[in-house]
Amino acid sequence: MASFSDILSQVKRSIREVSVDETKASMQSPRPSGSDGGERRPVLIDVRERDEYEQGFVPRAEWIPRGFLEMKIEDLVPDRGTEVILYCAGGNRSALAARSLEELGYTKVTSMAGGFRAWKQAGHAFDRPRTLTAEQVKRYSRHIMLPEVGELGQGKLLDAKVLCLGAGGLGSPSSLYLAAAGVGTLGMVDDDVVDESNLQRQVLHNVERLGMPKVESARMTLQLLNPDVKVVAHQTRLNSENIMEILAGYDLVVDGADNFPTRYLLNDAALKLGKPVVHASIFRFEGQVTTFLPGSTPESGPCYRCLYPDPPPPGMAPSCQEAGVLGVLPGIIGTLQANEALKIILGAGQTLSGRLLVFDALATKFRTMKLRKDPECRVCSKQPEDIELIDYEEFCSLAR
Ligand SMILES: [Zn+2]
Repeated sequence: MASFSDILSQVKRSIREVSVDETKASMQSPRPSGSDGGERRPVLIDVRERDEYEQGFVPRAEWIPRGFLEMKIEDLVPDRGTEVILYCAGGNRSALAARSLEELGYTKVTSMAGGFRAWKQAGHAFDRPRTLTAEQVKRYSRHIMLPEVGELGQGKLLDAKVLCLGAGGLGSPSSLYLAAAGVGTLGMVDDDVVDESNLQRQVLHNVERLGMPKVESARMTLQLLNPDVKVVAHQTRLNSENIMEILAGYDLVVDGADNFPTRYLLNDAALKLGKPVVHASIFRFEGQVTTFLPGSTPESGPCYRCLYPDPPPPGMAPSCQEAGVLGVLPGIIGTLQANEALKIILGAGQTLSGRLLVFDALATKFRTMKLRKDPECRVCSKQPEDIELIDYEEFCSLAR
């Protein structure tokens, strides 16, 4: 009868192994395995047990303990032609696992020689997962089931800090869903108080909160929904004096601003600080949403000023009193903003960077328009430190 070491060496001869350096190099590609076209990075799977994984893991690795690998692999890697790299602590369990995946029909499976030990010995960086409490595992179980989120993704959400600009029509659904999803810190910026005419669409508030500052009402609602979330109330209007300090504390901004001066100021300050902005606007029966990613890479896409270099003159903006909006419209558009924010935090899927999604509520139709980066843009073509913040004259617009 063959001994274990006989079988192991036979397996290691039959499968392909890659070194830790090769693994590191192939994981550098910015494109995840699910994306379209071009060079894609392989799916890296850590097959160790929970206690080992919690001590640290290779960045971007997925985690499926060896005992669950055959059961879960089809959910994580539906295409059997996808390149998969497995690793364990020392390279033996992953070698056996690689053979098992080959038997399941996976054609490009390799095992990382030397495992996590060799990775650490080579001096490569590693991540540590955030551990969820038993309560959190229960609360976020529908997220944890999704391979694109999992415990690791939920940890990212809990660590994330999102600034919601406006606690009104757009800020209501976006902050409610971000809080429900477990985004750990939500900043709310608004200087207004709750008015009866807001309640037709601003579902954060209610009749008991009339006259209360909107950020305070928002804090009460969001904290009741999810006590995991820390809500930071900024009862102010953004201006060139305070915006840098407020934005600096957040990873990204969900823009539900209702006026042009704030929109331009936000664009310029976010580029200065390198923060993504999920932008939206609504008018009557039509809503628009897009994502602005900072940076000069092709992936970063245009900024708000690439599309609209200057605000319209004050006399040209219709007055607030004339603007109507179908109550459900900000609900739809704000929820799409929350979707964008979650993807940016998780690093999953494709954002709306470079695309404007337009929704027509009367026709129930979506259309997407390509947005181009203006290489001459007077803001995003500049070095961040050279961008100057401008306080435009206040005038009314129509977003809420
Ligand atoms: Zn630009």
